[in-house]
Amino acid sequence: MKAILFHQHGGPEVLSYTDIDAPVPGAGEVLVHLHAAALNRLDLWVREGWPGIKLQYPHIPGADGAGFVAALGTGVEGWAVGERVVINSNLSCGRCEACLAGQDNRCRSWELLGETRRGTYAEYMVVPAGNLLRIPEGFDLQAAAAAGLVYHTAWHSLITRGALQPGEQVLMVGASGGVNTACLQIAKLAGAVTFVVGSDARKLDFAAFLGADYLIDRSKEANWAKTIYQLTNRRGVDVVVDNVGRATLPTSMRAVARGGRIVIIGNTSGPQAEIDTRFIFGKQISLIGSTMGTHQDFREVTALLWSGRLKPVIDRVMPLSQGREGYALMERAGHFGKIVLVP
Ligand code: ZN
Repeated sequence: MKAILFHQHGGPEVLSYTDIDAPVPGAGEVLVHLHAAALNRLDLWVREGWPGIKLQYPHIPGADGAGFVAALGTGVEGWAVGERVVINSNLSCGRCEACLAGQDNRCRSWELLGETRRGTYAEYMVVPAGNLLRIPEGFDLQAAAAAGLVYHTAWHSLITRGALQPGEQVLMVGASGGVNTACLQIAKLAGAVTFVVGSDARKLDFAAFLGADYLIDRSKEANWAKTIYQLTNRRGVDVVVDNVGRATLPTSMRAVARGGRIVIIGNTSGPQAEIDTRFIFGKQISLIGSTMGTHQDFREVTALLWSGRLKPVIDRVMPLSQGREGYALMERAGHFGKIVLVP
């Protein structure tokens, strides 16, 4: 089969589009014939590597995918060859304390497809049967692949961890990334008032297109916490979703209301951030960490996708053979919405 793969960490040059043996499903696994995959920023980090990451080479990246059931491993029940499926890339053991409590993204042996295991940038892949969901008749496979990880992550952070309530005010720090876009749509659906702070006008236009209520351009308003205060009658917002980190967290702590929550789901500007602890106790702020999502989150958020209440935004669709160009596009941040690869 054809796949995008690499044999060592590095820049774009380590990626190749080449032949590799198709995998064979083991016990409890399903062979999926992929018809769409979608890029995530995570793919860049995995390709570049970080201290301690251990991959089985050649490594096939990609966390998001959708396709058809092609073969069943021993012991798999309830699935038939030809069924249309989307992949939940979060792998968990199903037996540990966290898994039994329904908090499977805290599993002691948690893994992610495309990160520690071979992923979706291939014609075929094997997945534990429990990580598949059926795609209803008529729902587009490319849209299903594009939705996977970002809506899953956004749902877990904003709804499960952030406990967002109707009528609350929520600020997304970042206007155009996949998770921010999904958070904005989920916040609107939850009945929240939405604020987006973005790094330039084009990105904010995109947030406006998606229905953001208030837009703030931080290239023009460096003290955007003050703008939030003015817009909220000197109160601040109930919830901030911050995946930028170092560059924005100090201002996010000013922009949040007394008793508010800051949900931290990433650190695109770097892992170390300065925290003035007076804000934490003085304003009684909760800092909430969130990553990926549970099986239950995946079922809940995909149900909203299938019903059309959440709509994934696709920037462009490219053949898998052009995966390297897809990576380059993502590295330049020259896209709005998901980049889909089709084997
Ligand atoms: Zn577990």
